[in-house]
Amino acid sequence: MKIRVLGAYGAEGLGQRPTSFLVNDRILIDAGTVGGALTMPEQTHIEHALITHSHLDHVAGLAFLTETLAFSETRVPLTVASLEPVVNALRASVFNNVTWPDFAQIPPDAPVMKYRTLVEDAEQRVGDAWVTPVPVNHTVPTTGFIVHDGGTGFIFSGDTGPTEALWKAARGLRGLRAAFVECAFPNRMAKLAEVARHMTPDLLRRELDKLPPDLPVWIYHIKPQFYDEIVDELSRVDAGHIIVLEQDKTYTL
Ligand SMILES: [Zn+2]
Ligand SMILES: [Zn+2]
Repeated sequence: MKIRVLGAYGAEGLGQRPTSFLVNDRILIDAGTVGGALTMPEQTHIEHALITHSHLDHVAGLAFLTETLAFSETRVPLTVASLEPVVNALRASVFNNVTWPDFAQIPPDAPVMKYRTLVEDAEQRVGDAWVTPVPVNHTVPTTGFIVHDGGTGFIFSGDTGPTEALWKAARGLRGLRAAFVECAFPNRMAKLAEVARHMTPDLLRRELDKLPPDLPVWIYHIKPQFYDEIVDELSRVDAGHIIVLEQDKTYTL
């Protein structure tokens, strides 16, 4: 599997884009940014968007992607997929004809996008991948994903504080090659991390015990203003298999 980092951060800074990953050129995992990282033809190749939750740093790029697709002559309908509460939040709060046009209805003869409600804790086909959504622990309904192509797979945490079910669901998975895990705040902001339900390096250290030993842990969603501090703290957690993902780089599993 080929995973391109469109946005590696938990917010926006100069040259630092919010969370978004592109799997095999066709499947988005979150869409904090899309058009800021891809050419127009690359955007029109996207067929599916797996969305962890409705926060803007994960969906803002979806707004502009749908507009780009609306003016494209070569597009296929974009399938926006998640668990029911996340799909409901997107309908009610984003594509509601107030915040943004309802592109699931526009244009009436061939809408730009359609919603797909995924079944919790069950493996289902999304494009050329198998996807298992598992709820995680954030301030709004949020799902992590286990993504597999039949040979290799990875875990994607979504925004979450300490959690159990996702790691448990991935236990024993054959071909598991990496866990993408968020880390938003430095250790000194542990109180805020607890309220906002995010990871700090110290919290992450405890999560590692729930993962298979030696599984590469790929970090994303660092808040840009705390980048150097968090990376420094992460280097003291377990330098051996923690990797801070680089934006615009393509990783192959
Ligand atoms: Zn976020
Ligand atoms: Zn969030």
